[in-house]
Formats: sequence, C-alpha cells, structure tokens
Amino acid sequence: MKEMLTNKILNGLPDAEFARLMPLLEPVALSAGERLSEAGETAQFIYFPENSVISCHADMQDGESVEVGMVGFEGMTGITSLLGSRPTAHSLNVSVAGSALRVMKDDFEREILRGVGVKQSLLAYAGEYITQISQRSACAVLHRLEQRLAVWLLLLADRLDTDVIQMTHERMAQHLGVRRAGVTVVAAQMQAVGAISYTRGNLRLEDRRTLAAMACECYGALSVGRQQTAYM
Ligand SMILES: [Zn+2]
Repeated sequence: MKEMLTNKILNGLPDAEFARLMPLLEPVALSAGERLSEAGETAQFIYFPENSVISCHADMQDGESVEVGMVGFEGMTGITSLLGSRPTAHSLNVSVAGSALRVMKDDFEREILRGVGVKQSLLAYAGEYITQISQRSACAVLHRLEQRLAVWLLLLADRLDTDVIQMTHERMAQHLGVRRAGVTVVAAQMQAVGAISYTRGNLRLEDRRTLAAMACECYGALSVGRQQTAYM
C-alpha cells in the first residue's frame, strides 16, 4: 500500500509506523476552491495530498488575501498546529482538485509521540515549509509580478501529474495577492512566448523551460521536482 502512494511523507515512513497509521488514513477527493479550514480554527484533520494542491492563505480583515504556502505530494497540512501553535493563523484552500489522504489530528499527534520516523519526517518537512514561506515572502517584496507568477506556476507544476489545470486569472490574482488586471497582462506575455496557453478557464503549461527563464532565482530554491528534473 505504502509504495502505491505518491505522498512523500507517508511513502517515506518506516513500514511498522506506516502500518500503524494506515487504518487511520481516509482517502478523500478534494474540489478546487474547497475551503478545508478557517483561520482561527483548530484544524480537525491533517491532509496528505497525492495529486491535489492545497494553499495556505493569510486572510486580512479588509477581505484581502494572499497565498503564503503551498502543499502538494511533498508535504502535509497542519504543520504549525502540530508544532504547538494553535489555533492556526491561516485558512486552508484547495487550489487544484485531486486526491489526498487525511487523518484526525489527535490520532496523528499520538503517532508523533510513538514513532521516531513520523517525528523525523515532520521536522524535516517543517524545515522545508519554513524555507518555502520565508523565500516566498522575500520574493513577494523584491521580485516583479512576471517572476512571481512564473515561480508560482512552476511550483504548482512540480506538484501536478497533468499539464492542464482549471485556473482563472481571478484565482491566480487571489493567490498572489495582486489585481486581476496585472495577472491578465503578464499571462498574455507568457502566452505570447509559448510558455502557457489558455482555453475557457483551462490553463495549459506548454513549455516549462520558457517559464523557468521568466522566473526569478526563488524557483531554484523551492522546486520539489516530481516533474522538474525532466524539464530543467
Ligand atoms: Zn522571487
């Protein structure tokens, strides 16, 4: 069973620890736009994406929102609450539909106390996740929208098993915390050079090398590479 999973954390657990966790795992199908938890809530579940992508958003009081972290097959949700910060500061939203496994947070916490492998995986991923959110916050301040959008699309592409995703300019703008008009201009530039194409809300990643050439150095620091090695 473990070998059939794409999720790196579950897949990397020692056999005995995975065997203990397996009966507690529930497969779920996630829909794009689904809200999994609100800021201020204590999350009930920990999600391990397979081919879905979950975004962590900072939602401001005036309604503005920006994605601060992205979780795909390489990771899991709830890392900050598992490390002791509760309730969670951010909301969790499904950015790309697909499958995931979830476990009750309380059950998973018990496994962390019992298993060395679970604990090590959690801490290693916490380090990766902190790197992601800190690099992306630097990127948001220092780099141009064209670069940020290219990085975001590549980070998404790393976590997908398809080149086509349902994604509107409006939603891309929400993830990046910018106005839609700016995304429309940059997406048109990307389309003009053949990096992406667009048909009725379906975005196709046409050429990742071109997209990588438009990105800033931040992608190099953050790629998780299910598909990255094939393109870079
Ligand atoms: Zn950057």
